[in-house]
Amino acid sequence: MSFSANIEKLKPSATIKVSTLAKSLVAEGRDIVNLGAGEPDFDTPLFIADAAVNGVRSGQTRYTPPAGLPELRQAIADHLGARAGREINWKGVVVSAGVKQALFNTFFSLCGPGDEVLVAAPYWTTYPALVMLARAEPVTVFGAESNSFKVVPSDLEGVVSEKTKGLVLNTPCNPTGAIYTLEELRELSVWAKGRGVWIVSDEIYRNIYFGAQGDTAPGILNLPEDDVGKFILVDGASKSYAMTGWRVGFSYSGVEIAQKFTALQSQITSNTATPSQVAALEAFRNVEAASSAIAEMGVAFRRRRDLVIALMDRLLPGVPYIQPEGAFYLYFRVDGLFEVDENDATTWCSRLLQEHGVALVPGAAFGDDRWVRLSFAASDALIEEAFTRIVVMVGTGATV
Ligand code: PLP
Repeated sequence: MSFSANIEKLKPSATIKVSTLAKSLVAEGRDIVNLGAGEPDFDTPLFIADAAVNGVRSGQTRYTPPAGLPELRQAIADHLGARAGREINWKGVVVSAGVKQALFNTFFSLCGPGDEVLVAAPYWTTYPALVMLARAEPVTVFGAESNSFKVVPSDLEGVVSEKTKGLVLNTPCNPTGAIYTLEELRELSVWAKGRGVWIVSDEIYRNIYFGAQGDTAPGILNLPEDDVGKFILVDGASKSYAMTGWRVGFSYSGVEIAQKFTALQSQITSNTATPSQVAALEAFRNVEAASSAIAEMGVAFRRRRDLVIALMDRLLPGVPYIQPEGAFYLYFRVDGLFEVDENDATTWCSRLLQEHGVALVPGAAFGDDRWVRLSFAASDALIEEAFTRIVVMVGTGATV
């Protein structure tokens, strides 16, 4: 059967594939430790869920404008304004069905055949896929491993061309947990401005940050305005408020491009589900309750981050990993652990899952199949169990 050129190169999300396989093995009765999932293991805070239930009961069940409830756009603008320390125009905010849709809007509206988009790697698996859906070419660019793979302008100089339309940055990064410092971001922003390249800044993990307690990771809005050229900021409710299933993300951009995103959404999805918007409104508006929920989850993420690092150092000494400064992933290199006939992390992960019941995501999903991603959005007991099984498989003889 032949399909259109639009979806010629489209593959299902590799991270979702692992999660789905792990869930189906559980359904078959297998004892699986699933550290493949990219979502917080917490329930949505009750004050948010209650707002949605009350909204549904009081009839907030009809279409909203395609860019979202005006009061939600305003609440998001206020939230961004507090980050930026300046007023943010709510008309630049477009509410989408998750950051995924905001990114689709971005690439579909900004690029097309003949354009290239630089994607800092290792990358979240969806960026290249969405660039390709817009029929543009993703160009991956790795920073130095010694710099947690973060890219610097000289890395970009090696790959930029007259076709370059955009640069995708993700900080805190999925899969490495790396954070760009404000100065690193400034240098990249100045470079992009000089080159006339759009920055697409995905800051969805911004609140899951292991710097000073209570702080958030630096983002593009923290930069001096003069150092920033064209940009689209994407963020959402999924990770910060444990709301992955509600599907609420947003973009913030200039008003003209926001209107294009709105037109696009008006033709394909209309609005993000209204009850989900009502829930998000509470999350963004009730700053006090939201901050304490974020802080509570943050304590658990920080403890688990410390736990996985301690386990790596003790049980798998010499196995390279990136120190996570944010998000909830540990990215480590497994080519030194391959069996003789194994050539990639995909095979290694498949053996780990089938024979030892641990689901991790192979680095093929992120651009380098010598590495794997472990999600530590799981209880301490499950994390320890996963390490026990990994150690059994690689046969170091260490005990948890
Ligand atoms: N951006 C990154 C870096 C992610 O890891 C994810 C989800 O895993 C998303 C965006 C998608 O988030 P959403 O649930 O808002 O579509």
